[in-house]
Amino acid sequence: MKIEVDRDRLLAEIETLAAISDAEAPAVTRIVFTPADLKARAWLRARCEEAGLTVRQDAVGNTFARWAGSDAKAAAVGTGSHIDAIPNAGKYDGVVGVLGGLEAIRALRRRGFRPTRSVELLVFTSEEPTRFGIGCLGSRLLSGSLSAEAAKRLKDGEEESIEQVRRKAGLSGELDEVRLPGGYYKAFVELHIEQGPVLERQRIPLGVVTNIAAPASMRISVEGAGGHAGGVLMADRRDALCAGAELILAIENAARSSGAADTVATVGICEVFPGAINSIPSRVRLSADIRDTDLTRRDRVIKAMEDACNEISANRRVTLRTELINADAPAECAPAVVEALSDACRKHEQKFLPMVSRAYHDSLFMSRIAPAGMLFIPCRNGYSHRPDEYASPDDIARGTLVLAEALAALAA
Ligand SMILES: [Zn+2]
Repeated sequence: MKIEVDRDRLLAEIETLAAISDAEAPAVTRIVFTPADLKARAWLRARCEEAGLTVRQDAVGNTFARWAGSDAKAAAVGTGSHIDAIPNAGKYDGVVGVLGGLEAIRALRRRGFRPTRSVELLVFTSEEPTRFGIGCLGSRLLSGSLSAEAAKRLKDGEEESIEQVRRKAGLSGELDEVRLPGGYYKAFVELHIEQGPVLERQRIPLGVVTNIAAPASMRISVEGAGGHAGGVLMADRRDALCAGAELILAIENAARSSGAADTVATVGICEVFPGAINSIPSRVRLSADIRDTDLTRRDRVIKAMEDACNEISANRRVTLRTELINADAPAECAPAVVEALSDACRKHEQKFLPMVSRAYHDSLFMSRIAPAGMLFIPCRNGYSHRPDEYASPDDIARGTLVLAEALAALAA
């Protein structure tokens, strides 16, 4: 069976979808459940139906487009990604996995392939955290990583709840029905741009993801004592910023000395109060984002950070409080899916790199309920989440071809 990807059509569809946007081209802005997102969903549904797929939506708008296999009872093989885009983003993040997934299915159908297992395109709702402050909303609910009760408490910037927003978008059903039954998928594969520079730098056209890193994010507040920059002598100071600075370096040091390159830690926010040149900082708010592919290693950095908080607060007579915002466990991709993708690369004589996904994706959550894996294609300069995000037609077509081959093997 020789699979052929209709690359012109796929590229044209990527352009069409990019034009359904709240930003001026080449930027794309498509926030979940805005008119642009609903229009994009309707357009995509029509493309899926045109391809002969049966489309259903769940209560949170995750969309399933199914090509029925000959064994209706067998667990399905899923592929897909997301079409929402953060403000001022690019055309390819998520979209390559959705339209590439659709084209992979169409290519198999054109070849007359008859799957035993159903093959399903899955388009996740709100992978981006823009509207509700939490990423991978759809896949968290599908996998039970987020309960319906917790989801109902989420609100957008206008204080509208998910319940209100989704009902307005015409979605019915209950959020507690979104979770997929165990064994629903035999395998799940997500095609995605790398969003990093590794493939491009190494001139390797495909990446087979073996591990997906995941962040723990924390808020840290430091309470010291303010005062006049001239009046308070050094021995009497309880400077919150100096304490915060020590903590930042302790976090950096803990990540650097973890013994693994996959451990990374970032303090990206530092707010200083009162923020005047002649005033001792009385209060500092920091954020920490600590990521790893290994949970034990990541937890060790968190522990080191907490130890540093205790030490700094004792030495400097300040109070440090840490609040965990979110901590998802990293995932290992399923060996069966990694094998299917690697075999598909070999079959088409394509070089591939086994690699770590440093960004996290819906597949992280799908891996909790299904054997999951990801296939990466290069993107220029590793740029993503910006208007000049770019993946070449060759890379997109190649990724789609390998995806189709892997889906065929998994669904045979
Ligand atoms: Zn994405």
